[in-house]
Amino acid sequence: MHHVTRREFLHQTAIGSWLVCSLAEAGRDLLAAQAQPAPRYDLVVKGGRVIDPSQQLSGELDIAVSGRKIARVAAGIQETEARHVLNARGKVVTPGLIDVHVHVYDGVAPLGIPADPNCIAKGVTTVLDAGSAGAHTFPGLRKYVINVVDTRVYALLNISVVGQSTLSDDNPHGELLDLRYANPKLAIRTIEQNRDVILGVKVRLSRQIAGEHDLSALRLAKEAADAVKLPLMVHIGNTSTQLSDILPVMTKGDVITHTFHGNQGGILDSGGRVLPEVRAAVGRGVRLDVGHGRGSFAFDVAEKAIKQDLLPGTISSDVHQFNVNGPVYDLATTLSKFLLMGLTLDQVIERAATNPARTFGFPDGLGTLREGAEADVAVFSLTEGKFEFVDAMNQKRTGNLKLVPVATVKAGKIYGSASIPVVRG
Ligand SMILES: [Zn+2]
Repeated sequence: MHHVTRREFLHQTAIGSWLVCSLAEAGRDLLAAQAQPAPRYDLVVKGGRVIDPSQQLSGELDIAVSGRKIARVAAGIQETEARHVLNARGKVVTPGLIDVHVHVYDGVAPLGIPADPNCIAKGVTTVLDAGSAGAHTFPGLRKYVINVVDTRVYALLNISVVGQSTLSDDNPHGELLDLRYANPKLAIRTIEQNRDVILGVKVRLSRQIAGEHDLSALRLAKEAADAVKLPLMVHIGNTSTQLSDILPVMTKGDVITHTFHGNQGGILDSGGRVLPEVRAAVGRGVRLDVGHGRGSFAFDVAEKAIKQDLLPGTISSDVHQFNVNGPVYDLATTLSKFLLMGLTLDQVIERAATNPARTFGFPDGLGTLREGAEADVAVFSLTEGKFEFVDAMNQKRTGNLKLVPVATVKAGKIYGSASIPVVRG
């Protein structure tokens, strides 16, 4: 592999133009031989099994990239047509994944982690920080995270002005124990000033976070979301108020996260059947998100729900400081758990690329490989073996497939592990 330095490039260009000038009269054939056409594309991701549910694509295809955009998706794009080739033979190629529940306010919210090593390096080009920041701490999220990391970070604004800065293992007191911190007016103003990156409102209703007034906190959050006409994401589990009284506040487009948590206040009745109120909510357009997290995903709940045809709309990780070293690790591991529970590869990619883009108002051209879209591409190996997966309740399952991130392209630029060689075409 040879990288052309700027000096060499200028040198070659100078020699080249001299040759072209002096040969101009010597013969057209010689000139043609000197002036090889420039490659049409900057990059081709070659030979992978492409899965893009947004276009019902599933098969061996090549993806050509020009600049920041997808130029073409087709079989048989030649390596010589591109400046660089990412060899994806034997690999799974998807749109850059979108994780709609992460915490990347590193250094401010105790659960925050750095975005890039945990997102873009793992096939996730776009994330939604789910409420790490509230109105008072949002300017810092924008200035020190959103504006500077390589991962595309969008946010849901916490209805509490302090965001998730108060709660940790050593200070088990959440952001809404004092309801005066829930400030719709300030939330609305912050959202209006940052509409390009804030895509909704977040509220957490667990007892250690919202105490006995979870329903009041929920209504204040809904008031803010309605005022700015954006979705509200509601964190459920261990709430004072029962789920059947929480759900009626939610309307079309709102999102339940931690859908398959295994704590009190869940989606199943005592006989393991999906609550009619949950079905009714889904029926009127409320979306179900996974948000695995440290305490919010139980295999037995998910298995029972899936058996009753209650599937999540989006699969997100809720990856943060207290689960990044297990049991969550990353979004790809969370997706592998759904493969283990019987979803197809196309179904899990749909829930981590296509559906996220439809659930929240991300800019056009994310979560898809259609021509003209942002050139965000994730490459995974679908590894076979015996893998033990652990949920948030320490229940274990053994699966035989694991999705392992191997390379990421964002806006045409290659990130992630170098386990796939990049060669010049
Ligand atoms: Zn979370």
